[in-house]
Amino acid sequence: MIDEQAGGSIVLHAPMQGWRCALAEIPDPVFAQGMLGAGVGIDPTGDTVHAPCDGTIRALQPTGHAVTIAAAEGAEVLIHVGVDTVALEGRGFTPLVAAGDRVRRGDPLIRFDLDLLVQGAPSVITPVLLLDSDRYAVSPLGEAEGPVAVGDPIFALVPQQASASEAPAPYEGEVVARELQLPLAHGIHARPAARIRETAVRFSAEISMIKGERSANARSPVALLTLGARLGDLVRIEAHGADAETAVDAIATLIASGMGEAADPQQAPAAPQPAVAPAPASVISSDGRLAGVTASPGLAIGHARTLHLAEIEIDPAGVGAEEEQARLDQALRTLGRRLEGETATASGARRSILAAHRAMLEDEGLREAAAAAIAAGASAGQAWRTAIRPQAEALRATGDAHLAERADDMRDLERRIVSLLVGVEDAPIAFPPDTILLAEDLLPSQLMALDPANVVGFCVEKGGPTSHVAILAASMGLPALVAMGPALHEIAEGSMLILDADAASLQIGPDAETLAKAHALVAERRARRLEAQANAAAPCHMAGGERIEVFANLGSRADAEVAVANGAEGCGLLRTEFLFLERETAPSLAEQTAEYQAIADALGGRSLIVRLLDIGGDKPAPYLPIPAEENPALGLRGIRVGFAHPQLLEDQIRAILRVQPIGQCRIMVPMIASIDELRRVREVVDRVRAELGIAEPVSVGVMIETPAAAVTADLLAREADFLSVGTNDLTQYALAMDRGNPAVAGAIDGLHPAVLRMIAETCRGAARHDRWTGVCGGLASDLLAVPILVGLGVTELSATAALVPEIKALVASLSMDACRAHAAAALQCGSAAEVRILAREFRA
Ligand code: PEP
Ligand code: MG
Repeated sequence: MIDEQAGGSIVLHAPMQGWRCALAEIPDPVFAQGMLGAGVGIDPTGDTVHAPCDGTIRALQPTGHAVTIAAAEGAEVLIHVGVDTVALEGRGFTPLVAAGDRVRRGDPLIRFDLDLLVQGAPSVITPVLLLDSDRYAVSPLGEAEGPVAVGDPIFALVPQQASASEAPAPYEGEVVARELQLPLAHGIHARPAARIRETAVRFSAEISMIKGERSANARSPVALLTLGARLGDLVRIEAHGADAETAVDAIATLIASGMGEAADPQQAPAAPQPAVAPAPASVISSDGRLAGVTASPGLAIGHARTLHLAEIEIDPAGVGAEEEQARLDQALRTLGRRLEGETATASGARRSILAAHRAMLEDEGLREAAAAAIAAGASAGQAWRTAIRPQAEALRATGDAHLAERADDMRDLERRIVSLLVGVEDAPIAFPPDTILLAEDLLPSQLMALDPANVVGFCVEKGGPTSHVAILAASMGLPALVAMGPALHEIAEGSMLILDADAASLQIGPDAETLAKAHALVAERRARRLEAQANAAAPCHMAGGERIEVFANLGSRADAEVAVANGAEGCGLLRTEFLFLERETAPSLAEQTAEYQAIADALGGRSLIVRLLDIGGDKPAPYLPIPAEENPALGLRGIRVGFAHPQLLEDQIRAILRVQPIGQCRIMVPMIASIDELRRVREVVDRVRAELGIAEPVSVGVMIETPAAAVTADLLAREADFLSVGTNDLTQYALAMDRGNPAVAGAIDGLHPAVLRMIAETCRGAARHDRWTGVCGGLASDLLAVPILVGLGVTELSATAALVPEIKALVASLSMDACRAHAAAALQCGSAAEVRILAREFRA
């Protein structure tokens, strides 16, 4: 139901959580000057665009960055996430609806990765506006500036009297037409659409733009968006009326000018991005090679085994709407629970893919479409198929490679629900050892169900290099090629194959010499990895016996299991904010205790350094909106947030202190700039400790992430139990380079001598008071940096779990004297690049 006020006004509600501001604050004149229409801006702190009112999705950009909703006849509302986000080409956006879907206020429409957008776009302020309309005007509701939550009223659309003078000009004269190839790098997206409209309204002629069979009124930005016109597309401008000739000229000139978005002229006018990666010719060469597209690198040798998955047969007719709906609801609930369980125990790529599947499963549009099919007599399975397939096809039909790859996820959901309904759940996919799997396509859940001990790689006929299957394969370390085409079927079952994913090539039936070389290479790589892994469980000592602890950084319980399996001797940094990121409310005390306890248990008694919440800066938490700051990296972040929200700080400390056995957990304070901050935290720790009756002292350490902390390390070490250098932040603050700014990404290197000198200063300060110094920032996972860090006096390295075996093996090969001399030389280098050259020579 449309949310109407008296007089037929329609109330628009905040589609996202964040900070409301005027459109004028958006750093893009198209929005700031109201060229597209009136409305408000929202600087988001959440990750989802929700429907601001009931309506129909009029357009959803293939890149997922903007959505238009028809709220009522003549009232179309545009939500454009950020500025210039079209250039991200879909990265960071997951559309949850499709054009034509009916939505209710509050329905999720687009999910976005705010971190990625913040790094990749000039601004994330999101205009929410009424697209220029003759029939409605915008009347603001609520404060003009300040925090907004999803659903807060932001403005009303007030009906206007239609103006007779704005009626279209009567038809006069011939149709004037011009065709041109679109030179715009990102096609016709919101900004060019607004500019075209701006030009079109200066003429009385009726002007249309046509691409293929689609035609759009040049005065309607929404219609222009729905053309889906991309770089290189042939578009036709047509006009009739008194000034048709001049109008067509003006628009053609505007488009030909590139509007500041012209594609690189060196680049051939791009063909529309194919729905799969540009496939190599699918032909097996005379020497038995078939080319593909690398989805996951690596080298594997094995035998061809084909995966055949027949379509699951279903009875299309239902036995009664009520019963079929109940069956579907039950299957949806079951799969929802399974996905939830799978997500909880997954980490990294697998976790985010499962989360995406959960979001798709909850899609109201899909559920409504299925319900409609059931009401029309379909069985639950047939209804689900009927609902999901057009959506998957619509994604493919966008012609956008990234969206087309998401269609696989929809097919996966189709299969999982249908299998549940029919009771023929796919058996675990078992293959003999050394299988290179060949398939027409592979769905994410099928890949997750493979036994990685037997399947050494896979090749698929379809797919794309950025599909979820490709991402999963990379996270599993499984070499994979996609888009290999129909020639894949020509490979005889059981053939010997060399899958060289690094070279994007599959060798069929290699000769003895090629095979022997490949075996030698695979064996060499495996031996190196196995040796490191085999020794990974032992405590880490340098060649001369000095003890260096190699810990892992964790963000979840699943990470803890991986860390232990890789020989981590403990956790040097638990990023607690990651445990509770995707939530609308702060975690309760009980939830926190349970999570920390589970991680402590998974570590089997090994030391667990729990970092207090490090929200703010580049890590927003939806449940703790931090007002927009001019300089967030220099603002309310790290422990400063804890002081601003004392209850949150105290609850977290209480949850950590409740973990058994007492002493396994140590507390680490992020973003310390002065000793007072440590004292304030210590006070809370001591108070809660007394309250819980804990007699033992609790180890409280500080992160060295600010130059202030590094140069006063001796003062901090007097009272801190340990110091751990967060090189990610220390580097950004020492070099005055924002760690999230791509413009300086090439230069922000922790091996800069300035950063190394601060680490040296930290080690000296800590040693003066007999405290240890660790490194938990990215430098600890950099094999070139490890000898320097050890030489500077670092005795604990907390790295990415997967790298622990190699780091341990490296440390075991190092002599302290050599590391000290090497570190001293590094401190004298003029730049990070020089340090890297030195470090490479040292390792050679
Ligand atoms: C660091 O800054 O190096 C660090 C480990 O903390 P984070 O990357 O979580 O900010
Ligand atoms: Mg940090």
